[in-house]
Amino acid sequence: MRIVLIGPPGAGKGTQARMLQEHFGIPQIPTGDLLREAIKAGTSLGKQAQTYMDTGKLVPDQLVTAMVAERLERPDCEPGFLLDGFPRTIAQAEALSLHLDKTGQQIDCALSLAVPNLALIERLGGRWVCHNCNAMYHERFSPPQHPGQCDKCAGELYQRSDDTRETIIARLDVYERSTAPLIDFYEKNGCLRTVDGIGEPAEIFQRITDTLSAS
Ligand code: AMP
Repeated sequence: MRIVLIGPPGAGKGTQARMLQEHFGIPQIPTGDLLREAIKAGTSLGKQAQTYMDTGKLVPDQLVTAMVAERLERPDCEPGFLLDGFPRTIAQAEALSLHLDKTGQQIDCALSLAVPNLALIERLGGRWVCHNCNAMYHERFSPPQHPGQCDKCAGELYQRSDDTRETIIARLDVYERSTAPLIDFYEKNGCLRTVDGIGEPAEIFQRITDTLSAS
């Protein structure tokens, strides 16, 4: 199963991707996390990506596409994969199709998580992420048992530098202009499935698995 997850920032892609990874036994490929790791490691990719990410802009297509192509070559992707946060532009989607075409593969499903802007701003503003395992919390909707500490691994929680109000608005704008057109792109490909992204994570996950088994 080869899935791409599409949705605005804060739609819950990361949470659902982790649940789907476990359910289907396929690797989750979160491009935002991979880029943040590259920044932390101080690699050339990380250095190039940082200024774009800090201001809520997209990292140039060729950098992200090369990073993803390399990741897809690894053997764990043979049975399938789940791309979380990629593609984010039509150029990336076209590059992905070309890459898969070379080995006779294609995307089976583009899952679009639909969440209205007001809910996104509320979710992103209160989000805390574990430094160690990337688990996500929200100070109002899903607080950790001990403030500042991950329930799963006791790692330290932090707020992403791009989860400030100004950058959130910039990211939503970038989503509308650059990423939302992918919905049409995959609709024309016949593999788009849209799921309501409002509700508890388990409820949304159920909607997703129902949608996938019906397709
Ligand atoms: P995310 O963790 O998915 O919200 O991504 C955080 C940031 O990483 C985005 O705001 C972009 O700056 C960058 N990023 C992640 N994925 C991509 C992508 N496919 N194309 C370009 N930039 C990306």
